[in-house]
Amino acid sequence: MTPADSARLLADVEAFCQELHDIEELCYVEHRFNDQLIPLARKHNVLGMPVPEVYGGRGADTVTYARALARIGREGTGVRTFFSGHTSIGQYPILTWGNEEQKQRYLPPSVRGEQILAFGLTEPEAGSNPLELQMTYERRGDRIVLNGVKYLISNAGIATTAVVFAYPKGGGRLSAFLVDLVDGPGCVREDLTAKMGMPTANTGMFELTDYAIPAANLLGEEGNGFRIAMGTLVSGRLSVAAGCLGVIEDCLAEAVRYARERHQHGKPIGKHQLVQEHLATIEMHRLASEALVLKAAAAKDASAAEPGNAPLRAQAELLAAQAKLFASNAAWDAADRAVQVLGGRGWSTLYRPGRHLQDVRVCRIYEGTDEILKLKVAAAVLGGKEFEAYK
Ligand SMILES: Cc1cc2nc3c(=O)[nH]c(=O)nc-3n(C[C@H](O)[C@H](O)[C@H](O)COP(=O)(O)OP(=O)(O)OC[C@H]3O[C@@H](n4cnc5c(N)ncnc54)[C@H](O)[C@@H]3O)c2cc1C
Repeated sequence: MTPADSARLLADVEAFCQELHDIEELCYVEHRFNDQLIPLARKHNVLGMPVPEVYGGRGADTVTYARALARIGREGTGVRTFFSGHTSIGQYPILTWGNEEQKQRYLPPSVRGEQILAFGLTEPEAGSNPLELQMTYERRGDRIVLNGVKYLISNAGIATTAVVFAYPKGGGRLSAFLVDLVDGPGCVREDLTAKMGMPTANTGMFELTDYAIPAANLLGEEGNGFRIAMGTLVSGRLSVAAGCLGVIEDCLAEAVRYARERHQHGKPIGKHQLVQEHLATIEMHRLASEALVLKAAAAKDASAAEPGNAPLRAQAELLAAQAKLFASNAAWDAADRAVQVLGGRGWSTLYRPGRHLQDVRVCRIYEGTDEILKLKVAAAVLGGKEFEAYK
């Protein structure tokens, strides 16, 4: 992507965010799904940022896409999570492991917003360890029949297609499939409404019962599902890290604005040194998170340029995990500090820091929990496979 194309894309993202802003605020306060997000994203042509132009996308490199997600993250983790589900873990595996026919079938319509994507790995009995999945598939002629439940899935209730992972019935290795979700007796969906934050975004589950799909919807090679899942999580983790950077930026802006305006004890609260300590800490978190996100994004670009280079791939995987681990904790802390600076108003979700605090908590859970990512970082510094805490 040329610098001019990158600047154009970021300008479109800015215009999208500005047009979305008031609608998102209203939906948040009214606790309802933001049904204007997709039409506006389509209008500003941001539904396929890293998708190559040949499939209708913008052809963004990972660094540009990370900057775009950071800007989107300022509007809220719910807004950014939609993009993670649709693009970072939806379009990405199709782009990386799909055959040409699958790319033609799914990428252009998803860039136009005619198809919405989701990524179905997690199940009620399998979260941190995807090897414990219970969803099965069985070949019947030119069909594949799926049975099982996917749970806590971003965009589940609005997706037209999900990347779904299942084991062969009777045993074998994990495979990935492109599953068109058509509601009926074989495909039942339910939204999760009792959640901590992100009321404007869709999170849900779907249950597939003897659900038949064409055998041609196998994604990548049969038995390669674990590699596809783990490879996709690199893209997903980066998207979470970038979104968290945006959360920190917004918390800093809100806290600084309020610290200048609010007077107590005869002066702006920004002149009280303990309030300044909060601002300084948020700013240091912002700076460090930005550096890590950009480094991880550059590493992913370097790895993508040399697909066969295993050390580059390992470096990109590790940095994505590190960026996500650091930025999600930094964003949680920044939101907490911004709430504190705003005092009682901060506690209200009428103000942005309180909303960020609720929304951003999930970033320490999805796409790899804090604990799982720490194990990955520790194994890397200890020297690799021999020190992996679990197999
Ligand atoms: C809002 C939201 C959106 C999501 N979107 C998606 C999505 O789009 N697609 C998708 O597939 N999934 C999605 N998820 C699921 C998410 O990825 C999982 O919740 C996450 O991976 C953790 O799995 P779990 O909830 O089953 O927790 P568990 O794996 O049961 O973990 C529970 C606790 O045990 C700890 N733990 C587990 N194993 C170990 C270990 N070996 N060592 C140390 N500690 C350990 C965990 O860190 C955690 O603290 C979403 C979740 C949420 C909340």
